[in-house]
Amino acid sequence: MEPIHDVLIVGGGPAGYTAALYAARAGLDAALLEKLSAGGQMALTTKIENWPGFPDGIDGFDLGERMQRGAERAGAKTVLAEALSANLWGEIKTVETSAGRFRARTVIWATGAEPRRLGLPGETELTGRGVHYCAACDGMAYRGKTVAVVGGGNSAAADALQLSRVCKRVVLVHRRDTLRAEKAYHEQLMQAGNIEFCWNSVPTALLRVGGLRGLRLRDVQTGRERDLACDGVFISVGRAPATGLVREQLALDEAGSILAGESTKTNLPGVFAAGDVRAKALRQIVTAASDGAVAAHEAAAYLAGGG
Ligand SMILES: Cc1cc2nc3c(=O)[nH]c(=O)nc-3n(C[C@H](O)[C@H](O)[C@H](O)COP(=O)(O)OP(=O)(O)OC[C@H]3O[C@@H](n4cnc5c(N)ncnc54)[C@H](O)[C@@H]3O)c2cc1C
Repeated sequence: MEPIHDVLIVGGGPAGYTAALYAARAGLDAALLEKLSAGGQMALTTKIENWPGFPDGIDGFDLGERMQRGAERAGAKTVLAEALSANLWGEIKTVETSAGRFRARTVIWATGAEPRRLGLPGETELTGRGVHYCAACDGMAYRGKTVAVVGGGNSAAADALQLSRVCKRVVLVHRRDTLRAEKAYHEQLMQAGNIEFCWNSVPTALLRVGGLRGLRLRDVQTGRERDLACDGVFISVGRAPATGLVREQLALDEAGSILAGESTKTNLPGVFAAGDVRAKALRQIVTAASDGAVAAHEAAAYLAGGG
């Protein structure tokens, strides 16, 4: 039979690793499951300028690794595995993973957020092969080529700028006639020289001949369709809470975020939600870390019989 951990943490972003640090320092047997690598979303950015204590900023990947090292030094264990299903009812919770079954008396769900998809036919199949969700990760593959960026917020603007430094041509496709991105981005986008705008347009199909060849776009005002030839598409239309595995067990809001107040307590005893998965006003590294600390504290209180 598998051992029963005091705390099983699912997700190795700032919420998960802070929970692991606090749980281990409280003397609990804490195991953390991570399907990719430490850091979560912040590992996608090269400069974080609002994590206190680093006046010159810090690389997100580096910060993630530091958080992992800190938690492990305190005694927490990382298991590189993907949670595939969970049974969070009852006193002993079980999580089935790509590396076998894990059991624990408490679970801290810290799976963060993942990119929203457009839901176009072929999107899943082309992911990583023409369709991408992270310019920082995959942009270099399009050096000297033409790419489309879909979206109009800050992350779409940042992606377009980043891609404009390596690509020949970047076409920003947005369903409205102005960007939602902060004004600071507008001037930089205009000055880039190789960024074009495709306003009032939504993608309706991924064009493919073997691999991706372009996007079919519909003008939302006229209904007319046209084809845009491009080598790659970067989809940047926001992020959604990664709560698919727990949606039948934990109470969620209409956006799919776990309903747990500042205490991080969910509707199930011994189950806590920390970071971007939780319904909250501000999704940042510092608030994710804060949730992680609170969740570990609440898990310890629950195990001591006072939670
Ligand atoms: C490009 C970018 C730049 C950003 N820049 C900043 C910034 O400068 N400052 C700032 O404060 N915030 C920034 N943010 C937001 C910040 O990164 C997030 O608010 C924060 O990372 C949330 O932490 P989290 O631990 O809740 O979730 P996440 O960081 O999303 O981590 C969740 C982890 O869970 C893992 N996971 C998910 N599902 C499973 C599963 N089934 N099994 C195992 N593991 C799983 C994921 O692989 C991931 O590592 C940025 C976000 C992005 C995308």
